Amino acid sequence: MKSWEENIRKVVPYTPGEQPKRKDIIKLNTNENPYPPAPGVIDALRSMNTDGLRRYPDPAASILVHAIAEQYGLDDSQVFVGVGSDDVLAIAFLTCFNSDKPILFPDITYSFYDVWANLYRIPFERIPLNGRFEIEKEGYFRENGGIIFPNPNAPTGVLLPLAEIEAIIERNRDVVVIVDEAYVDFGGESALPLVRKYDNLLIAQTFSKSRSMAGMRIGYLMGNEKLIKYISDVKYSFNSYTMNQTALELGKAAAEDRAYFEECCSRIIETREWAKSRFRELGFSFEDSKSNFVFVTHDRVPAVEIFTALSEAGIFVRHFRSPERISNYLRVTIGTKEEMEQFFAFLENYLK
Ligand code: PMP
Repeated sequence: MKSWEENIRKVVPYTPGEQPKRKDIIKLNTNENPYPPAPGVIDALRSMNTDGLRRYPDPAASILVHAIAEQYGLDDSQVFVGVGSDDVLAIAFLTCFNSDKPILFPDITYSFYDVWANLYRIPFERIPLNGRFEIEKEGYFRENGGIIFPNPNAPTGVLLPLAEIEAIIERNRDVVVIVDEAYVDFGGESALPLVRKYDNLLIAQTFSKSRSMAGMRIGYLMGNEKLIKYISDVKYSFNSYTMNQTALELGKAAAEDRAYFEECCSRIIETREWAKSRFRELGFSFEDSKSNFVFVTHDRVPAVEIFTALSEAGIFVRHFRSPERISNYLRVTIGTKEEMEQFFAFLENYLK
């Protein structure tokens, strides 16, 4: 190793799901929405004033913050936006997790959490899910430097009831608790009402899944005004202009179309429930999912073999080699009904 390399911050990065270049595929591997963004988004794009791109965008991202706050009955001061929830979560880690005590998250969860913890040198402990892939609140009743978990959890899709979340927060009033609600719009119950009661609670949500805007990169945090201010201060110490002008205008249009958003979510929920019955018929088992994916294992054929066969047929799903406990599972994003019909037609033939 060269001497300058000794002073380099070395990290093992997060591996995002594959974005194949081929067009003729069925893409069920990164939990994207199969439906297009709201019609108002297309209108906003068409009427965008490109001359305005000469200027820096509003560093406070006010139009987007306001549109989100309105949707949830919050004050603008309780919302923070960023470049996807990955961005807002990374800033929240940097701002909120500064103790010598370990932060806690589930052993099977979003695989970015340990990457940020390592990046920022935050000690952490993984709390095991139970045999049904559920978060057990008692695991979080111990000294710690902060808590984060997704609800529904990823990649399992399993939902933790609100009463259990509240019990975790109640026992952890002296640290920040982050609930990552990337998938909550597909039938989960948001912990947002608890923000009024607990000033140490942060909710993270995203436009990437339920609002069909993964490509635009918009995520947000909701929480107590004081906590949001601390997070903004860190953002302004890093990059004032995280949100580009296009994201602000298109994000506002997406946030404002509540009817379209609800319609897309209910179509995905309906397809998911039908997909569950098809999975069962074909010999798969899974815990109940309240997200836009199902985490399945087959009673006979190893996950890697199914994964490879699907990939060769141009159908992409997600397989995690580690941890060992989930290496025989596949995470299948819910696509359109037509895409899912093709997916199951392939499986039916393959598993014969
Ligand atoms: N949290 C969880 C649990 C996720 O699965 C994802 C998607 N990879 C994210 C956050 C980040 O999503 P985005 O940055 O697209 O908002």
